Amino acid sequence: MDVDNKVSIELMSKSQNEGFARVAVAAFVSQLDPTIEEITDVKTAVSEAVTNSIIHGYDNKKEGIIRIEASIFESEITITIQDFGKGIRDIEMAREPLYTSKPELERSGMGFTVMETFMDSLEVESKEGQGTKIIMKKKFNAVS
Ligand code: ATP
Ligand code: MG
Repeated sequence: MDVDNKVSIELMSKSQNEGFARVAVAAFVSQLDPTIEEITDVKTAVSEAVTNSIIHGYDNKKEGIIRIEASIFESEITITIQDFGKGIRDIEMAREPLYTSKPELERSGMGFTVMETFMDSLEVESKEGQGTKIIMKKKFNAVS
């Protein structure tokens, strides 16, 4: 894969680290001269994916590792967010708007829909018992 620049970070699955993840990715993306709105989109998508790893992948208790990779090629960023938690049995169902496996926690089941809306593309790879990997891409059209 062609890459101009790349960073990776690992976080413990603690909700306190979610803010760090979104700011870190936003700082990396800023070299593409995004608009404020584009930065907000990326931050929101990263938050949703990291929150999912914490509350679903690691069930909000086990302290697992979340691996985030961001790479830039030309004007496009690729963000990968991976956990090694419980995985998703039915990815198609999980991606449906309003589907949540945790209605008791007042989740709205909109995380994947938000990621899809704010990014250009979203891929979900997952195996039960092994974990989940989210791959999101977004292209920036800033003239530089
Ligand atoms: P919301 O994001 O609106 O608070 P939600 O997290 O339930 O609610 P989505 O983010 O769309 O909704 O995720 C849908 C479902 O996919 C989750 O309820 C969960 O069952 C499953 N899921 C998502 N991410 C993971 C993950 N990293 N590991 C395991 N299951 C996941
Ligand atoms: Mg979610």
